[in-house]
Amino acid sequence: MNPRILLKVKGASKSDVEHILQVITDCYANLPHNLDAVEVNIFQNTSDALSFLSAQSKAAGVKSSSFDEDFYAYHHAWLGLPSITLSVEKLNTLPPELADACIRHEVAHSVLHGEIRYYVIPIPPPYRRLKEVCGLSDEYLLDLTYLTAVAVKDYEATKLLYSHNYRVDQLQYAEHLLEEGFETTLWKIVEHHPQAKALFLTSSLKVPFCIKPLLDQQNIHLQKKLESYLQPLGEYRQLLMEVVDESAEIFTDDTYSNIQTAAEIHCKKILKRILTQPTQRNNSSRTLNLYKINS
Ligand SMILES: [Zn+2]
Repeated sequence: MNPRILLKVKGASKSDVEHILQVITDCYANLPHNLDAVEVNIFQNTSDALSFLSAQSKAAGVKSSSFDEDFYAYHHAWLGLPSITLSVEKLNTLPPELADACIRHEVAHSVLHGEIRYYVIPIPPPYRRLKEVCGLSDEYLLDLTYLTAVAVKDYEATKLLYSHNYRVDQLQYAEHLLEEGFETTLWKIVEHHPQAKALFLTSSLKVPFCIKPLLDQQNIHLQKKLESYLQPLGEYRQLLMEVVDESAEIFTDDTYSNIQTAAEIHCKKILKRILTQPTQRNNSSRTLNLYKINS
């Protein structure tokens, strides 16, 4: 049975709202879930959607993600209910099938991660151990945890959709992520600052994890595109792919345990290598807008 939809609309046309609701309800009908209710917030303007999310995160006392003008759609469960927020203005800039794929991605999050515990994640032990060795702040470790969780949750969302016959649209979604391009300029800036570099590489797990479930024999071209997307990272391209491949191999159906697995492997292959270097110029990464989140 479909969950009850608690709908909020601002500025969007009737036909856009109807189409979005259709995509959402069809998707719930195709995915296994046990949701009773879900909030769906449809805004015509991106700025209204962003103000709404920032008010919600404030009300929940959650540190707000750094949303920006690239925002299309977002899922959270900060207030205890799964909540999907969409910007029609942005979705309408995409080909229709791709816009639908974005919406389904958020529906998958609501099915898998529609509880607050998926949004308030404790620092995993491998990152805690890193604190003792490298003297990192809790705030920094929480950022690492947040970025790792975002990447793992995206893997799970793609996997759920792909295994329920949302194949063509999820491939399109993956190609769209790759076409957005890698933030080479930012990488050049952070490359020489260990803490900023480690945070940047953690944020770079998101795209390969999101795409990983699609990388099978039929989609070799995607593997090639992913490799060239990560090309600017030099030696870290291979390491990042190893983190994704080795984690995915032992992932289970438990998000918490998957985050722990990814953190463990990421720590071993990448974070320790960067954060335990003897010559530290640990410029705080906090002044840099290191990552953008389109959940
Ligand atoms: Zn996501």
